[in-house]
Amino acid sequence: MMGPAHSLSGAAAWLGVGAAAAGAGYPMPWPVLVSGALICAGAALAPDLDHKAATISRAFGPLSRGLCEVVDTLSHAVYKATKMRGDSHRAGGHRTLTHTWLWAVLVGGGMSLLAMVGGRWAVLGILFVHMVLAIEGLLWRAARVSSDVLVWLLGAAAAWILAQVMDQPGQGASWLFTGPGQEYLWLGLPIMLGALVHDIGDALTVSGCPILWPIPIGRKRWYPLGTPKPMRFRAGSWVELKVLMPAFMLLGGVGALGALGYL
Ligand SMILES: [Zn+2]
Repeated sequence: MMGPAHSLSGAAAWLGVGAAAAGAGYPMPWPVLVSGALICAGAALAPDLDHKAATISRAFGPLSRGLCEVVDTLSHAVYKATKMRGDSHRAGGHRTLTHTWLWAVLVGGGMSLLAMVGGRWAVLGILFVHMVLAIEGLLWRAARVSSDVLVWLLGAAAAWILAQVMDQPGQGASWLFTGPGQEYLWLGLPIMLGALVHDIGDALTVSGCPILWPIPIGRKRWYPLGTPKPMRFRAGSWVELKVLMPAFMLLGGVGALGALGYL
């Protein structure tokens, strides 16, 4: 899928988690619902850091372009080192390492750890990166015609305001993890979920997605998981724009109502 569909599905997924959490007796304060949805929308772009034309690879100027090259090279190396006889030959790292459940868990866990031990600046940094991505993903063309600097300023302002709100007692820093020193431990959850939702989105498209790596299926360790072939569609096709994106909006709306206790 393309950026906007990935971001929308990420936001909808977090709103759904909000509804489920409310049902399970862990209702999210609204700042957690809102910032989690935005973080998840941003994180749902992150796996494409292995592709230089992707939104995330151009979102932070030379910094993200450099990181993209590192990630692509690393992904390709890991692919070559772990491929089995059934896996095909590949010229680059796109849709490999960063498109797996293991990557989602590692990145989510790493961000949780960083948020917990890194203090205020780590939280602000994580929020900033994901707000910028959420703006790029959700506003798509609007963000593309305006300047990068404007998007960064918006991201920084959003990060600052959200952190300010969530730092108030009961407003989100200690949601779900209530022990002392566990503030913002939950931040890794929308990040992990965003990556997984991205993988599932890619699995619906023509090429599939090796989500299960390194668990082998048959003679392939990079088995491209996906829906039955005739049901798959091309990234950016009408199915994505006219069917999936409205569906994500609807599901997100229902999730939000559930999360806030209106259902
Ligand atoms: Zn992808």
